[in-house]
Amino acid sequence: MLKKCDYCAKEISYFEQYCSDECHAKTNKFYEISEKFEKLFSIVNMICVFGIPVGIFLFPFAKVPGTIVASISCFILGVLLLLLPFPTDNMISKFKLKKAIKITRIIGICVIVLGLLICGFLFFFLLSE
Ligand SMILES: [Zn+2]
Repeated sequence: MLKKCDYCAKEISYFEQYCSDECHAKTNKFYEISEKFEKLFSIVNMICVFGIPVGIFLFPFAKVPGTIVASISCFILGVLLLLLPFPTDNMISKFKLKKAIKITRIIGICVIVLGLLICGFLFFFLLSE
């Protein structure tokens, strides 16, 4: 029966949980940080995830404020995911911690790029006015 390290997903024996002390320490550190910043993360996350559709909803009536709300929400959410890359439990059990953190950071970068695109769209709109 093959088992994988809870942190790096390397194959290990059935009786182990981690392949090395380093992986164990990194996992402990992650849960320490996520416990400390869990509340902050979920509040900021909720505001930003709410802010993006609000900005899009505002857009037909108020183009500039709508774009600003949506792009600022994207920037903050992206930076949050880079600084505090807390994957969902689903992602952790599917990819193991190391890869799940990496994927979360990549999503953060994508959200920042989305914010930049929305900003670029605003400049385009203002120039064509
Ligand atoms: Zn490992």
